Amino acid sequence: MPLPEYRVYALKYAERVGRRAEHFLGGDPHDGPHPMDYFVWAIVGEGRCFVVDTGFEHAEAVTRGRKLLRPASAALAAIGIDAAKATDVIVTHLHYDHIGGYAQFPAARYHLQDKEMAYATGRHMAHRAISHAYTADQVAGMVRQVFASRVAFNDGDTELAPGLSLHLLGGHTMGMQAVRIRTRIGWIVLASDASHYYENFETGRPFYIVHDTGAVLDGYARLKTLADDPRFVVPGHDPLVCKYYAPEPGLDGVAFRLDAEPKR
Ligand SMILES: [Zn+2]
Repeated sequence: MPLPEYRVYALKYAERVGRRAEHFLGGDPHDGPHPMDYFVWAIVGEGRCFVVDTGFEHAEAVTRGRKLLRPASAALAAIGIDAAKATDVIVTHLHYDHIGGYAQFPAARYHLQDKEMAYATGRHMAHRAISHAYTADQVAGMVRQVFASRVAFNDGDTELAPGLSLHLLGGHTMGMQAVRIRTRIGWIVLASDASHYYENFETGRPFYIVHDTGAVLDGYARLKTLADDPRFVVPGHDPLVCKYYAPEPGLDGVAFRLDAEPKR
């Protein structure tokens, strides 16, 4: 049977401007402004819809000085997806900008790696340098979802549906997972924070938040082999995504179709 071909969307929900020297491990000799976009993603086809990550909400944006443009549920509504009815949410990792909007998905099962929950609730969180990208209340909220039988744990690579699989890469966090999807242009990969920017995996220079630098670098190689073409790897926070992919009609700056050849 031929594999299904999914439609895949990047949905931008927030932005901020950082600096290059802050964003790369070891700094950057050519410092300058370095904008960062924040996305959730949607995978649609075969009568199913998978949401990837949940964004953050207003209070978190204020606490962390981020610019929230719209909550994930509003970005999803713009392309006709009702967050309240979503049944499957893939959580790439538990950092605040990926899990902070989980309450917008009251009907969902959350697909998460064992290692990510162990990491986010374990000994390493005693170190501020590692815990700062997690928000304790959100992690506790996900623990409650475990007790409500709403977390589907994965240990390593897993096929969620025909043409859709999860891949444990670690590196950025211990349980960081990427998503591989069959589309009309072939296999594409949502790297999420396994590569924040194109520059990370294309030049082998990690983002500054790392659990295991070697795993980050191995992850870059893996991302390229999982995709049919290295150009089909979609980084997690790069504003270039909004340039390389066409917006949905009337949704420029909000929704971009990823199952099309990137213009680069
Ligand atoms: Zn992130």
